Amino acid sequence: MQYFSLSTNVNELRIGNNSSKNIGKEIGKFVVSTMEIPWSIIKNELGKSPEKLINVTSVELSWIEKQIEDLPDFDTIVGIGGGMAIDVAKYISWKLNKRLVSIPTILSVDAFTTPAAGVRNNHDVEYLGTATPNPLIIDYNILRTAPKELNIAGVGDLFSIHTASFDWTYANSKGKSEYPFSDKAIEGGEKILEFIYNNIGSIRENNNNGLRAIVEAYISLNTICLPLDHFRIEEGSEHYLFYELEERLKRPFIHGNIIGLGIYLFSRLQNNDPKFITQMMNDSGLVYHPYSMNIDKKDLVDSLLNLKKFVGSKEKLWFTVIDDSDINIEWINENLSGLKF
Ligand SMILES: [Zn+2]
Repeated sequence: MQYFSLSTNVNELRIGNNSSKNIGKEIGKFVVSTMEIPWSIIKNELGKSPEKLINVTSVELSWIEKQIEDLPDFDTIVGIGGGMAIDVAKYISWKLNKRLVSIPTILSVDAFTTPAAGVRNNHDVEYLGTATPNPLIIDYNILRTAPKELNIAGVGDLFSIHTASFDWTYANSKGKSEYPFSDKAIEGGEKILEFIYNNIGSIRENNNNGLRAIVEAYISLNTICLPLDHFRIEEGSEHYLFYELEERLKRPFIHGNIIGLGIYLFSRLQNNDPKFITQMMNDSGLVYHPYSMNIDKKDLVDSLLNLKKFVGSKEKLWFTVIDDSDINIEWINENLSGLKF
């Protein structure tokens, strides 16, 4: 597709069947940041053994810094896995100025195409540094060893353009946008959504075209957002519910799935074509119902009731429809009725 350009933070993209094979022979001494399941899938394919393995159990800054203290001499950090393993690799690449290789084994989050490492500082989200994968390796066969739902979860951070762009447009209309407003960015986001809709069947099937569509859409999102230096078209109220729930329940979620729940609810609060985006999420096979994430009804109700206060207490969170809303128990009951607990 002409529309997608690689003029982003991704220097080189290797994409195909078995594209990760023997990468260990090209990158000098390397350290791997990964988790048990992805590592068990790929460890015999790399062609060489790492100097050290970091088994990622946290993205808390203090935890990552502790891992850095124990690292041997090395040239390259290889992130293998989902968002957390890749974010730790990005942080280490930036902090120690080492070459980064990213090999996502699921597409549930866009961490592998964004330059900053998403970490937690005392449970608060922080995006730190810049890291450029050299190369980013998309290996279809590796991705297909994961349950389909984990790759489909990748559309969560793309469908969020639907609600986040609405939030930005709304904030701008109220004179509350933190950044100069860009019609061009909003239009670019709409094109990405269209592209995803056009590939929805392939995405649901996890075939090569579908997996590639998710990756290309992420890269395209970066071509819009990196020059602006913010992800306002993709991050808004739907993400803020996730931040509240994460702080409340103190456990990780599959990113795209929890974002899907936010899209379901905030497209309704925004009165922003909720039926359409819900249909799209259903057609893609995205898992977003609370029961599939073990979220109790009471926790979700409490989270929604607290959300406006939560957002108000976090200076870094942008102005969205939440700030002007009255999320009361009537609205909650009405809008949770279509969700499965
Ligand atoms: Zn996200």
